[in-house]
Amino acid sequence: MTSATQSWGLEPDVVESLRGQLHGPLMRDGEPGYDEARTIWNAMIDRRPALIVRCADTADVVAGVNFAREHHLPLSVKGGGHNIAGLAVGEGSLMLDMSAMRDIHVDPNQRIARAQPGCLLSDLDRETQEHGLAAVLGFISATGIAGLTLGGGFGYLTRRFGWTCDNVAAMEVVTADGRLVRAAEDENADLFWGLRGGGGNYGVVTSFEYRLYPVGPEIIGGGIAWPARDAGDVLALYRDWAAQAPPEHTCVAVLRKAPPAPWLKPEIHGQPIVAFFVCDTGERVEAEARVAPIKAFGAPVGDIVQPRPYRAQQSLIDATQPPGRRDYWKSEYLPALEPELLARLVEHAGRMISPFSGITIFPISGALNQLPADHSAVGNRDAAFVLAIACAWEKPEDDAANIAWVRSTWQDVRRFSTGGTYVNFLTEEEGDERIHAAYGGNYARLAQLKAKWDPDNLFRGNKNVAPLAS
Ligand SMILES: Cc1cc2nc3c(=O)[nH]c(=O)nc-3n(C[C@H](O)[C@H](O)[C@H](O)COP(=O)(O)OP(=O)(O)OC[C@H]3O[C@@H](n4cnc5c(N)ncnc54)[C@H](O)[C@@H]3O)c2cc1C
Repeated sequence: MTSATQSWGLEPDVVESLRGQLHGPLMRDGEPGYDEARTIWNAMIDRRPALIVRCADTADVVAGVNFAREHHLPLSVKGGGHNIAGLAVGEGSLMLDMSAMRDIHVDPNQRIARAQPGCLLSDLDRETQEHGLAAVLGFISATGIAGLTLGGGFGYLTRRFGWTCDNVAAMEVVTADGRLVRAAEDENADLFWGLRGGGGNYGVVTSFEYRLYPVGPEIIGGGIAWPARDAGDVLALYRDWAAQAPPEHTCVAVLRKAPPAPWLKPEIHGQPIVAFFVCDTGERVEAEARVAPIKAFGAPVGDIVQPRPYRAQQSLIDATQPPGRRDYWKSEYLPALEPELLARLVEHAGRMISPFSGITIFPISGALNQLPADHSAVGNRDAAFVLAIACAWEKPEDDAANIAWVRSTWQDVRRFSTGGTYVNFLTEEEGDERIHAAYGGNYARLAQLKAKWDPDNLFRGNKNVAPLAS
């Protein structure tokens, strides 16, 4: 039987009975829309669900969850499809594709946004910035809000306001038994705790309620780059900066080859560089004073740090992360930037193979460190930076060399880690040991919670927390 005609053991009338319950389309292999729906950001992932439901509403989510449970089908949920491990799509699964559920309602007086789970970051930024408000989101605007929020979430506003999930006030969730429940501090508080970092382990979220903050609409931000021969001095500047920058100021450091971007001098294209991506959401005069020493440093090969709309900042580096490439990462939380670590990173960057790869340091210290480790499942509140060693390339024959570069770099520098890692950056082969590292002391409570809310582990298309055996 070819993949295009696989029935996955499902009788046609059973499939038709599901189709009859749905408001959105049901797609099987070979049907229009199926291939588009199963395609995700990382081209390394090529899996064929048995059934794909493009949910039109919450009732479709309930129908899909009940069908998967009753027919013992693996269930997967696709938000923005950006998870590098390909968790959105399971072989032989019933996949709930949330891309049609994208409504957003902003209440500017309460400074709250309610967003459906198919929204991308750009959708939410567009609606909230209409009111001069913003949620704490990530750096690439095509990422899904759902996966990002459920695993923690960090971006330019994290130093001020904490993890994305620290700024969620409530969620509506379809649980394993097909009920729709609300989770908030005052309702199903245990579930609310687990959803804020525990990935998709506890149910399918159909609505997120975000707290918003006044941001922009214009901020000081942009990119600035120097040739890699200056990387030692530039990263020393970065280390000094990190020790004193206020939370309004976020500066991401990247070691990579220069893309052919118009803001970079043509002679540097394809050559190794060190770059900063700056976003300062403080008062204009103070923000300009803070970026001045960075702009005055050395001899940049490009500098577009300037006043710009916050929304433009939120998509500033989108072009470096297009869908459809082959991707592999390793990531760690760092407590500090040791000079030896920075020296090792510069050396490893010099061995980078693909022009699309990079070593990135994201600063996250600030608000998230001020809450107790068990405030929510995401934990890792001792982290000051996220280190991402990321490889992207185009041809399968280049897999081995690129993956080897990531792994050898990571093996060399993981001794500088807090011991924790970001669940949303775990790759396909990173299993129990790394999931435990992601949750640390919160893992046992997550396993207890799983036994209560999903004892049969219906929601296992994620970095799975096994239910604690009773
Ligand atoms: C280019 C790129 C840039 C990134 N930048 C950042 C960043 O700046 N900050 C950051 O924190 N992270 C970042 N990430 C990581 C990102 O947070 C994760 O990849 C996240 O899983 C993406 O969410 P998604 O909805 O797009 O994922 P998907 O692949 O659709 O889903 C990921 C997981 O979430 C589950 N899920 C999705 N929707 C739901 C739902 N409604 N209910 C329950 N479970 C659900 C899925 O089952 C799956 O397990 C980035 C990833 C990429 C590829």
